[in-house]
Amino acid sequence: MTPLRLLPLAAAAVLLAPGAAEAGPADADLLAAAKNRGEWLIYGRTYDNQRFSPLTGIKPSNVAGLRPVWSAGLNSLDGLEATPVVSGGVMYVTGAHSHVYAFDAVNGQRLWHWAPEEPEGLGTVLCCGPVNRGVAVYGDLVYVLTLDARLVALKKDSGEVAWEKVIDDWKKGISATGAPYVVKGMVVVGIAGGEYGVRGYVRAYDAKSGAEKWTTHTVPGPGEPGNESWPGDTWKTGGGATWQSGAYDPELDLIYWGTGNPGPWNSDLRKGDNKWTASLIAMDAATGKIRWGFQYTPNDGWDYDGNNAPILADITVGGKKVKAALQTNRNGFFYVLDRVSGKFIYAVPTVDGINWTTGIDPVTGRPAVNEKMRPLADGKTVVPIVPGLEGGTNWFPMAFNPETGVAFVPTNTWAMALTGYKPEDIKYEPGKVYMGMDYKMHRISETVGRLRAFDVQKKKWLWEIASPLPLFAGVLATKSGLVFSGDQQGFFFAADAKTGKVLWRYQTGSGINASPITYEIGGKQYVAILSGLGGDPSFYFSGPKGNTLFVFALDNMPAAKAGAGKFGVPEIEGALTAVPK
Ligand code: CA
Repeated sequence: MTPLRLLPLAAAAVLLAPGAAEAGPADADLLAAAKNRGEWLIYGRTYDNQRFSPLTGIKPSNVAGLRPVWSAGLNSLDGLEATPVVSGGVMYVTGAHSHVYAFDAVNGQRLWHWAPEEPEGLGTVLCCGPVNRGVAVYGDLVYVLTLDARLVALKKDSGEVAWEKVIDDWKKGISATGAPYVVKGMVVVGIAGGEYGVRGYVRAYDAKSGAEKWTTHTVPGPGEPGNESWPGDTWKTGGGATWQSGAYDPELDLIYWGTGNPGPWNSDLRKGDNKWTASLIAMDAATGKIRWGFQYTPNDGWDYDGNNAPILADITVGGKKVKAALQTNRNGFFYVLDRVSGKFIYAVPTVDGINWTTGIDPVTGRPAVNEKMRPLADGKTVVPIVPGLEGGTNWFPMAFNPETGVAFVPTNTWAMALTGYKPEDIKYEPGKVYMGMDYKMHRISETVGRLRAFDVQKKKWLWEIASPLPLFAGVLATKSGLVFSGDQQGFFFAADAKTGKVLWRYQTGSGINASPITYEIGGKQYVAILSGLGGDPSFYFSGPKGNTLFVFALDNMPAAKAGAGKFGVPEIEGALTAVPK
């Protein structure tokens, strides 16, 4: 673990970014994040994950003037999937391989860089590349999850390690790629490893000391409700990984977390619903106790992970006010659930041609499976299954405008072939892939990706932006009526939220698989995105690699306040050492 940071040279005073000496966000700041115009304090901007910014400086009438103001290379040509966090004038962001960077958010001056060492052999337990989705900032610490399943707390002003906790043994195929989630003085984390026969869990640590507070398994053990949905000992390797971040409702005091596929992929080897895999669970924040679960895909046989964190929104459906949880799922449906009770409200398909189900029960939300499309442990190939396992929407987060009730949903229309191994060829071994199936993704039309706008209250699709390649970028919506996202051709773009008309775009040089943010310092609004093809999309097409963080602003906006964005003297990394005294 090597913190690479600025040297405290003579010019130490100017090395500090504006506000860098201030304490980072506290509970009250995170709870009020929706009212905080300028900063982007947590992964989804607010606890409800709406990715909606109240900023209005950049708007449809002037967005054409957006220009890059600084950029930064992030050291690796692997995929970039993070959402940056901005607090106290500093941007904290992760690159690939769990590297963490702090930048002056005004001018891009690098303040520090933390580069963890990786154990040999780690690459064999990563299903989907050495990706990371971002940090959490709380008080004086910045938290990151590492690929070898550690939770590391870094000092926010220096990047030095304050403490670290081993979450689990990576050699068992347990990894961590999501953004940690800070709630009520706890850092809540999930694990990856659904393709390695892990038994998933969500765990909370004390944010200051790192002491473990609670662990909630997504797959119930003997004596726990739902264990009867697993035959024999299958629960022990049942999957239900928790590789994304969560959501939090402070009034209900519930933490929401999505869960992944059951293990192995062949559903006939674990007949039953296999709770709580491919589900959303709601947990009491204080204890982690599961209050309710909603299973999107019972007895999943298609790798339809339900990890995408929900957006929490208070909406009106059919004349009734609902405290809703909105989720767009790999199985091809957009779900609206009652987040108080977990009851199903409605679901609509996000893509055409869905054939693994013949329909969803309008009362319970349970899908009726088209058994012809269920791959079994019989050596036979089932094709084409729609959607393919990368999903109608994979992990990349949608955005929601609470003022208009419109969700902006990245979707992909594609298919897959699945070939189930025979039972004698499916053996669990710790740290080895435990899928029991081969897969191949297929194109079924010219257009794969569509960024779609959906009026959640009227249940009406409004517009779409088509892309020949699959979409893997998250979305940002602004009060001024803009929607930002990116595509695999390298374009970062802004569209009119009302019409879907693309008003501005910028070629970043590599595919975009991360999520945009916006922030304001000294009256000047910025928009940031990471560009770097890698991870899952790089399995399906080749394009130029990249590793760049881009930040944009309007030329005609006021400069940031005095004192913001002073340049310091960066440490020279390498052989050029100072003259000995
Ligand atoms: Ca999976």
